[in-house]
Amino acid sequence: MTERRINISEPVTGEAEWQAIKEPIETGWLTQGPKVAAFEKGFADFHGAQHGIATTSCTTALHLILHALEIGPGDEVLVPAFSWVASANVVLYCGATPVFVDIDLQTYNIDPTKIQAKLSPKTKAIVVVHLFGLCADMDAIRDALPSQVKIVEDAACAAGAKYKDAYAGTLGDASAFSFHPRKTITTGEGGMVLTNDPDLAEIMQKLRNHGAEISEEQRHHGPKPYLLPDFNMMGFNYRMTDLQGAVGLSQLGKLKGFINERQQAAQNYRQALAEIPWLKMPVVPDACTPAWQAFVTWVDPKTAPLPRNEIMDVLQSKGIATRPGTHAIHMLSYFTQAMQLSPADYPVAMFCNDQTMAIPLHNKMTADDYQYVIDALKAL
Ligand SMILES: *Cc1c(COP(=O)(O)O)cnc(C)c1O
Repeated sequence: MTERRINISEPVTGEAEWQAIKEPIETGWLTQGPKVAAFEKGFADFHGAQHGIATTSCTTALHLILHALEIGPGDEVLVPAFSWVASANVVLYCGATPVFVDIDLQTYNIDPTKIQAKLSPKTKAIVVVHLFGLCADMDAIRDALPSQVKIVEDAACAAGAKYKDAYAGTLGDASAFSFHPRKTITTGEGGMVLTNDPDLAEIMQKLRNHGAEISEEQRHHGPKPYLLPDFNMMGFNYRMTDLQGAVGLSQLGKLKGFINERQQAAQNYRQALAEIPWLKMPVVPDACTPAWQAFVTWVDPKTAPLPRNEIMDVLQSKGIATRPGTHAIHMLSYFTQAMQLSPADYPVAMFCNDQTMAIPLHNKMTADDYQYVIDALKAL
């Protein structure tokens, strides 16, 4: 018998991506150029946003947004305590202070009822994370915030996710997506800002390219060989390559299909696993259409046959990969020490840190693979 191995996540890349990168390879236009521009337009159009600005990652996309919003020393930015560490690191890049807010165990997203207690006159923005591809409760979040607080969506996991009739990425002042291979569509590494604010978009376009007034492509094709761009702001090099843009365009064409498959797989899991009393399913509020970047359950310590980590070990021994959903940022030693935090400060995030378990869900899994995972969970 060949050994079975079901990964937690796998990107779907192949012949289409090979073909896509041929043109930039052959023309020699490798850095940000026509492929990136087409990917930006396609991604923005898909989500119903006015402007798309491709970057090297979601992390740099988030940094670009916070910097463009002039978040700096002395400012506070609200961040959910349960998210990937980047959601908080980008606040530190600006010299500002992340202020954590606990989450809701049902959805793993920020708990709007806990926002008010964390507001101060220094609160300038909130990083709203749509974790695992499920949109946060945007109406309640907006109601809890003073109107001057900027809303930045960390939509790293949420390409194609919806809240009511609008796509993730159009629900705040600006949003950031990730194309890391662990997300639904990938460019290897890569990210994208979406916004409907033309002024903010223009600033971010410059900031991404060292603060240059004109892009390299404009310079290359322009009539005046002596022109160098002016730089009237300090910028960064967060440009995506055209190789990545070409791969992104190919992947974007598959996004809808990937999400449909993921929704079916999630539905199947929810039905098949409902009878396991100790394994809790993620809850989907009526307002949300999730993209299912990951399928994250939690293990109820009161009724589970084994502690979560031992359950993960048993599954591993059967070739099934699982992972904690993500980490509680305030429990990471850098944050614990730098901000003098203790795990119990954010009890739900702490609980999720210890009890969540993502099970395999991706677009390379077969019906047989899903059944194998379901059977292994039931056998516990
Ligand atoms: C993956 C992820 C990021 C980081 O994305 P990169 O493209 O790797 O920088 C940020 N926030 C969340 C919630 C993520 O899941």
